[in-house]
Amino acid sequence: MDRKYVTEAVLADAAGIARAARILRDGGLVAVPTETVYGLAARADSADAVARIFEAKGRPSFNPLIVHVRDAEQAALYADWSDDVVNATLVWPGPLTLVLPRKANAGLAPAVTAGLPTVALRCPAHPVMQRLLESVDFPLAAPSANRSGFVSPTSAQHVMTSLDGRIDMVLDGGSTEAGVESSILAIREDGSWEELRPGPIDLDALHRHYYDVGLSQGGTRETLEAPGQMASHYSPGKPVRLGVTDPENDEFAIGFGAIGGDVTLSVGGSLSEAARNLYACLHLAAESAKPRVAVAPIPDAGIGRAINDRLKRAAAPLA
Ligand code: AMP
Ligand code: MG
Repeated sequence: MDRKYVTEAVLADAAGIARAARILRDGGLVAVPTETVYGLAARADSADAVARIFEAKGRPSFNPLIVHVRDAEQAALYADWSDDVVNATLVWPGPLTLVLPRKANAGLAPAVTAGLPTVALRCPAHPVMQRLLESVDFPLAAPSANRSGFVSPTSAQHVMTSLDGRIDMVLDGGSTEAGVESSILAIREDGSWEELRPGPIDLDALHRHYYDVGLSQGGTRETLEAPGQMASHYSPGKPVRLGVTDPENDEFAIGFGAIGGDVTLSVGGSLSEAARNLYACLHLAAESAKPRVAVAPIPDAGIGRAINDRLKRAAAPLA
């Protein structure tokens, strides 16, 4: 690995957060805990800082970044703010990303939005990320803190495994809560809602809350707008078989509920526990000597949809 920096792992206390804020102000890269997964943050108003995110991750330049803000007021600097948007932001702070028509010349580095007419905005609930956003006067662009295409990090250790030597610092705030990335909801100019990525927030229930009808299910995608979005993502670097009740001997088995394995997502069959454990299990699968991975069936309801979305991409052949 080409070591560009020595990466410090720093405890996410007041001093650690202050140090992270200084590094970010100077255009550096800091991995930070959020309530979903660890994010790799840089100031979103600096083209140089944002370019470093793409370089450190090996992320294709057409894949835009989510802009993290401290509150709806800061978000409104960057996007058109309709009543629908105000409704949706009542879930903030929380694991909901809104893709909205972008305000022109609002000061974001162009690479953040990859030339799209929209911008993705999120106000995270994790206290460390919140304190960090309050201590800087710019928003933070932050994709997941892993090399592009591979398993997302839910601990500081996971971040170090893939980005040690490529980023300035990781703020260690322990293991993350939700375990899968934010739900992504596009709110169009005509007011229609579209799910771009399933996640911890149930967008169907949210839509029903405001409009008495569920969200139309146009099929989930991790954005049509980002051209060439890879079907393969979250890969442990070896073949993955899904819906397996009877794993082979050479398969690292990831269990769920009654179906056991080398590790389990949740012995008791809890989907939220499974979401929290998903990436840690995939990291263990990646490290295992076994050449293949088998995953037990996961019910496709609630956050189970987000889990199956990630698993399907983890199982897609690498390009
Ligand atoms: P990650 O890189 O894991 O944080 O995921 C970020 C996701 O947000 C990717 O799927 C991006 O394609 C998506 N995203 C970011 N900005 C936009 C946007 N303006 N429109 C649609 N999707 C976006
Ligand atoms: Mg990611």
